[in-house]
Amino acid sequence: MSLNVPEYRLDGIYRQRQDGFFMQRVKLAAGVIPAVQARRVAAVSNRFGRGTVHLTSRGSMEIHWLQEADLPEVKRELAAVGLTSRGACGGAVRGVTCSSQGAAGFPAVETMARRIHRHFTANPRFERLPKKFKIGVEADATGRRHLIQDVGLVLSCRDDSGARYDVYVGGGLGKEPQPGFLFESAVSENRIIPLIEAIARVYAAHTPAGKRLKHLLREKGEEEFRRLVALEPTASEELPAVSGLQENLVRVPGDRRIVARIFAGALTADQLIELADFADQWADGIMMATADQDIAFHIAAAHEPSQASAALAHCSFSAGPVAIRVCPGSHECRMGLSATREVARSILDAVGPAGRSKSWAISGCHNSCTQPQLADIGIVTSGLSKDETGERTPHFDILRLGREGFGKVTEQSLTLAELCRVVREIG
Ligand code: SF4
Repeated sequence: MSLNVPEYRLDGIYRQRQDGFFMQRVKLAAGVIPAVQARRVAAVSNRFGRGTVHLTSRGSMEIHWLQEADLPEVKRELAAVGLTSRGACGGAVRGVTCSSQGAAGFPAVETMARRIHRHFTANPRFERLPKKFKIGVEADATGRRHLIQDVGLVLSCRDDSGARYDVYVGGGLGKEPQPGFLFESAVSENRIIPLIEAIARVYAAHTPAGKRLKHLLREKGEEEFRRLVALEPTASEELPAVSGLQENLVRVPGDRRIVARIFAGALTADQLIELADFADQWADGIMMATADQDIAFHIAAAHEPSQASAALAHCSFSAGPVAIRVCPGSHECRMGLSATREVARSILDAVGPAGRSKSWAISGCHNSCTQPQLADIGIVTSGLSKDETGERTPHFDILRLGREGFGKVTEQSLTLAELCRVVREIG
């Protein structure tokens, strides 16, 4: 059996850098995953891969080192516990992300993320888009992650009709980062899905293949884009209010949250099983893959968070001393220009006490999958140069985050040694 490239991308599968191996990405709405599903991800990795799981900065999970012949069985195994990968890669609505899982408004946000995830996943009207279409739902704007989505929602208020969201459109990172702009304020939750449909249709109809929504915004301008969206029949449609039982799985927001900080988002499958067991014991069986590539838990009301923290300290995952997001880079990704986990270790060796309190992000190429523009200190592998022996070595740009918007490039084209020297000066 040989799968053609567009089809397997829509199933959340990329070819790895290593010939004959594939990565399977699993979509999680707002990063929330029950322990029973996490155990299945781990089991699939142990059975078909090499027993590793990568946590992404969009709250998804990736299983590497899969072989082509096993991909249908992997899909069945994941589907058997209700997990989907449809649209996790390729020109589709990607996993709906949330970086504010600890906020008081998270239950409403999780509910919204689940509805969007359910509506757009495997919906043929919204597959085969020109490129990826990213949606994020946030309880507040503090993390600025709403600015990097094709559609970013920020919970603004609640009234008798339910939650309302500020809707940001046209953001994205990559080589030409562009913050999303405020498209409409305080949109009723019952209008969100039809409005996203209208935006996605305009995107699909007017954007060349391979280009993001931000490209269309640059071409048409905000005014013309708004006009096109307004012409769509669903642009102002309001769906009936949803009734029935609550959809959110996380019931306890706020200060009962504890985080298992995972170095570089890299877990073994057995460590993931251990964390799933922890979730069953302390957190109502619910885990959260965070936007910082960690695993978080809201400790159930019946337990003391301090006791849960003590129990978590006995788990065997490799806790990172610094908050650092790291993509797979040249370890597994075909686009990777640097061995990002090794770069991260060099940075951790070099960084002093002041640097340890900052957030860091390392990306293996300009695609910026770890969102280096939103870390206190972002590192982008910007290219390769040949040394005198002909060996190719990566070089790096450093970005520093200011009070608003995206981080700006402060140093360019550094070797790893030069990068570490700058990191040491940060303290
Ligand atoms: S930033 Fe580049 S190297 Fe890293 S995962 Fe994304 S595409 Fe791959």
